[in-house]
Amino acid sequence: MATDAKLFQNDLEQLQNISIRYDEPMALHTTFHIGGPADFYVEPQSADALRRVLRLTKKHNVKTQVIGRGSNILIADAGFHGVIVSTSSMKQITVLENVITAEAGATLTALAKTACDHALTGLQFSNGIPGSVGGAVFMNAGAYDGEISEVLTESTYYDRESGEVISLSGDGHRFDYRNSIYRTHPEWIILSARFALLPGDENAIRREMEELMRRRIEKQPLEYPSAGSTFKRYPGRYTAKMIDEAGLKGCTVGGAQVSEKHAGFIINRGGATAGDVLSLIDKIQKEIYRLHKIEIEPEVIYIPE
Ligand SMILES: Cc1cc2nc3c(=O)[nH]c(=O)nc-3n(C[C@H](O)[C@H](O)[C@H](O)COP(=O)(O)OP(=O)(O)OC[C@H]3O[C@@H](n4cnc5c(N)ncnc54)[C@H](O)[C@@H]3O)c2cc1C
Repeated sequence: MATDAKLFQNDLEQLQNISIRYDEPMALHTTFHIGGPADFYVEPQSADALRRVLRLTKKHNVKTQVIGRGSNILIADAGFHGVIVSTSSMKQITVLENVITAEAGATLTALAKTACDHALTGLQFSNGIPGSVGGAVFMNAGAYDGEISEVLTESTYYDRESGEVISLSGDGHRFDYRNSIYRTHPEWIILSARFALLPGDENAIRREMEELMRRRIEKQPLEYPSAGSTFKRYPGRYTAKMIDEAGLKGCTVGGAQVSEKHAGFIINRGGATAGDVLSLIDKIQKEIYRLHKIEIEPEVIYIPE
């Protein structure tokens, strides 16, 4: 190990409330079950610990990537030469009247369930999206006519450049389809988010969540690892329908396949590499361009080595 890396490791190992793994296969931390080893894989247990890790990576100028639950990313087969920091151990959720505050690593499903348990309506759509609150704010996750932007009132982030913790109000997020201001500021790391909900009927909320989950199970290839919809919606078109009509269902590169159940998903049939997925994405994009003269854009985020 280079001296710089050794110095960083020494400092990192002094920090409290974090877990560290070395050469950690990222396939273990992504819903695609794809990704080579990260030199360092760190899970801070609190926002404070996360800040301390990020300060250290800046001090030592170590390449850093923050992830949530790994459900919208494709990590390179060669892994990541630096530190992957996962928020997945920061999962506290608190409720005060109709306002829920969640740490970045809380799962959307836990968030939706908490809202339901408190008879609060507005987050049913998020039940079953396998991401974290941080990832969902970053992506403006949405489903079944609901979107994070509709219920979020505030988020708090750590600015890696200035070292400050800053609160951003609803409008400041510049939410758009699968987009937020965070996508243009990779140095802003989301620590928590706040949601304002409306009082509702607990049983009705639970029934709606169950119904949406039933629809997911029926339509999506949840029996295989994936990162959800591979491509963004193209304005005015259904991407999955275009892929299906292009005859690409079942199209395979190595272990990666366009799902036969839902053409919008690339699934890992077993042993898929990031290279397989990227080749398949490329193949689909070229075919859709040939047929429609439009460029469809991946929703899945590729994290290179
Ligand atoms: C089966 C399946 C179904 C899905 N269904 C849906 C759906 O219905 N709707 C939908 O919108 N998505 C869906 N997704 C995609 C995915 O779950 C969402 O995009 C989710 O919001 C990603 O959250 P994550 O924590 O997994 O983020 P990750 O995949 O870990 O990261 C995604 C991006 O967010 C950034 N990020 C994560 N946490 C932070 C943070 N704290 N601060 C700053 N940046 C951060 C990462 O750097 C990365 O660029 C689905 C995925 C799967 C596998």
